[in-house]
Amino acid sequence: MTARILVVDDIPANVRLLEVRLLAEYFEVLTASNGPDAIETCENGKVDVVLLDVMMPDMDGFEVCRRLKSDPATSHIPVVMITALDQVSDRVRGLEAGADDFLTKPVNDLQLMTRVKSLVRLKSLTDELRLRASTTRNIGIEELLSRNFAAEDTMPKVLLIDERKTSVERIQKMLRDRADLDISSDPHAGFFQAAETSYECVMISTAFADFDPLRLCSQLRSLDRTRFVPIILLAEEGEEERIIRGLELGINDYLMRPIDQQELTARLRTQVRRKRYNDQLRASVTQTIEMAVTDGLTGLHNRRYLDSHLQTLFDRAVARRRPLSVMITDLDRFKAINDTHGHDGGDEVLREFARRLRKNVRGIDLACRFGGEEFVVVMPDTEGAVAEKVAERIRAEIAQAPFAIGQDGTKIEVTVSVGVSSVLKGVDTVAALMKRTDLALYEAKSGGRNRVVAKAA
Ligand code: GH3
Ligand code: MG
Ligand code: MG
Repeated sequence: MTARILVVDDIPANVRLLEVRLLAEYFEVLTASNGPDAIETCENGKVDVVLLDVMMPDMDGFEVCRRLKSDPATSHIPVVMITALDQVSDRVRGLEAGADDFLTKPVNDLQLMTRVKSLVRLKSLTDELRLRASTTRNIGIEELLSRNFAAEDTMPKVLLIDERKTSVERIQKMLRDRADLDISSDPHAGFFQAAETSYECVMISTAFADFDPLRLCSQLRSLDRTRFVPIILLAEEGEEERIIRGLELGINDYLMRPIDQQELTARLRTQVRRKRYNDQLRASVTQTIEMAVTDGLTGLHNRRYLDSHLQTLFDRAVARRRPLSVMITDLDRFKAINDTHGHDGGDEVLREFARRLRKNVRGIDLACRFGGEEFVVVMPDTEGAVAEKVAERIRAEIAQAPFAIGQDGTKIEVTVSVGVSSVLKGVDTVAALMKRTDLALYEAKSGGRNRVVAKAA
């Protein structure tokens, strides 16, 4: 993971100390010795994470953070405040200024790397979403990314797996009004609970009398349903080895006991945001793919999808020696409908036709708008005789009840002609199959329309 980290501190020795350690992990490092310089660097450059000292003359870290977070150009850059040990009031002020995380001096290596990596991941997701939002004008994403969006205020659903009552009570108190917290005091039961409910974060205590907490982490990572759920380990002082092992197994972050409320809040927030961004990103990818293969007017698949999928269905049918049938439907005298009722009226007819078509085919059948007023239905596992019956049912369904269009619900008679054909045993191809089906449709048209013609297989 490579990223650009900006280190801000007025004492050169402190800057140098962090710089050396970050460089050793192959991060790119930028430095600033005062607030205004730091802000300028953030505005100009591609900064992925800011490590910000609190105590600086003139403009202190809180003010720098506040300014970065209030400017839309820099508000998405994660900020880690570096505070003196035991300065709880600093952390509260930091959170209020919008800081994403804290580190205390002297900065411990493991903590530094875990926090930085966690925030770099978050930043790369945000960048991807911002890019997508700017290229596709995805309203949902823009809303998600605006700093005070509602989704961030909704309480995250969190599971705590911890068998010590006092610890549970303490954490419950800390997260009151901040998380919708479920508790499991048994690691086995906790695992099943995590698998059954969609949590936005799972916190696992390391302090079980008779259970290896890392086993739980690895189980959660290997199960499909929990593979992506953020895991935070609640560890004891002196458990560095175990934490490192946990990080290798895929935990996302850790907290040392005694747990600090501000730290807990900040870490949880980062993990939940990352999860929500991730989910949003996945949904947006799915949506983009769906749009590319869907016909906008009718919601059926489009021709592009049919072209790519028909060959697959065809090959599968041939390989398994199963039947496969295809029908092409074409509305009769559709041009006249457009001429009489306008293009919008024609569109309404197409939508209603698609609705009736969908109602009369099975879920495994592939119904597509082939173009204009032509539709194609591919029917796996279907003999020609059965396909002909389906086609006849569709034809009757269209002819039997007039279509109501326009505000006044003008009723118009619509009919459809259908050609049906099936995969031949022996040598056959998709192109030949489509050609036969088209020929059948042509015969239906020339034979007087409002009819089904099937080419015997
Ligand atoms: P036939 O019975 O021989 O099929 O006659 P037809 O009028 O249906 O056939 P033709 O192919 O001549 O006309 C199809 C018409 O469909 C022409 C075109 O303007 C119209 N059309 C194509 N796509 C759309 C669309 O998306 N919306 C609307 N409203 N009309 C469309
Ligand atoms: Mg046509
Ligand atoms: Mg037509």
